[in-house]
Amino acid sequence: MELFKTISGVREWVKDQRQQGRKIGLVPTMGYLHEGHLTLMRWAKKSCEAVIISIFVNPTQFGPQEDYERYPRDLERDLRLAREVGVDAVFAPEVEEMYPPGYATYVEVEGLTEVLCGASRPGHFRGVATVVTKLFNIVQPDEAFFGLKDYQQAVVIKRMVKDLNIPVEIVTVPTVREEDGLALSSRNKYLTPEERRQALSLYRALKLGEELIRRGERRADKVREAMSREILSQPLARIDYVSVNDAETLKPVDEISGKVLLAVAVWIGSTRLIDNLVVEV
Ligand code: AMP
Repeated sequence: MELFKTISGVREWVKDQRQQGRKIGLVPTMGYLHEGHLTLMRWAKKSCEAVIISIFVNPTQFGPQEDYERYPRDLERDLRLAREVGVDAVFAPEVEEMYPPGYATYVEVEGLTEVLCGASRPGHFRGVATVVTKLFNIVQPDEAFFGLKDYQQAVVIKRMVKDLNIPVEIVTVPTVREEDGLALSSRNKYLTPEERRQALSLYRALKLGEELIRRGERRADKVREAMSREILSQPLARIDYVSVNDAETLKPVDEISGKVLLAVAVWIGSTRLIDNLVVEV
C-alpha cells in the first residue's frame, strides 16, 4: 500500500493505474477509521481494481466553535486497517497541501444545504463540497463511495457532480451500526459509557418513527413529536433537529407519502450525533 502526502504523488500513481487500464475507486474520509469506513472500502474493492482512500480532517467544513482541533486522529492505526482491507493507496495531505496560502475558491451547492445539518452548521457543506471537488480533481476516480450515515452529504455530492459535470459515479453505502443499533461514527469516541447508553435514543427514535408510519401515521408532526419524546427521555440529550423530509428534495414534509427521510441530530452531553432512516410508504 502506498502512502502519499502530496497531490503530485497521487497524480503520478493515478496516471500509472490508468496506463494499466485499472478502474479507480476513491473513498474520502477524515480518518479514525471504523467498520463504516472499512465497509465503504470493501465496496470499492469489489467494483474497482485500484482503490485509494483519502484521510484528511478538512478544516473548512468545521465551524469556529466546532471540534476540528480535538477531532480524533490516528494515522498509524488507520494505515494498518486500510492495508488489512486491501486498499492500494492512501492520500493523507497536510492542511497546507490542500489549502496553501492565498487559497480563495469554494464550491456552494444551494437549496439542499439550507436544511438539516446545513441549517445548524453554516458553511459545513461549502467546506465538504469544496474538499470533495478538490479530491475528485486530484484523483479523477471512476467511482467514489459515500455512506448513507451522512445522507444529506451524499445527496449534496450527487447534486454537485451532476451540476458541475464531474465525470464520477457516486456510490452510496448503507449505514453500518453497532449490534445495538448505534450508527458507527468517529465521534462515538467522545462518549462516556453513560452517554454511549443514552446515545442509543437516536436509533430508538428513528425505529419508533418508522413503526408509526408503518402503522399508518401520515402526519409528520405526530411522528416528529413521538421521536422527540423518545430522545428527550434521556437526561443528557438535547435536540438539534428531529425532521421528516422528502428523501430526494430534502424539503420538510407535512403529509408523509412516497420516500421520506427521518433524520435526527442530537447533542449527547457535548457530542453532536446524527442518524437517519429512509422509510417508503
Ligand atoms: P467521515 O470520516 O466521518 O467523514 O466519513 C467518511 C465516509 O464514511 C463518509 O462517506 C461517511 O458517510 C462514511 N461513514 C461514516 N460512518 C459511517 C457508517 N456508520 N456507515 C456507513 N458509512 C459511514
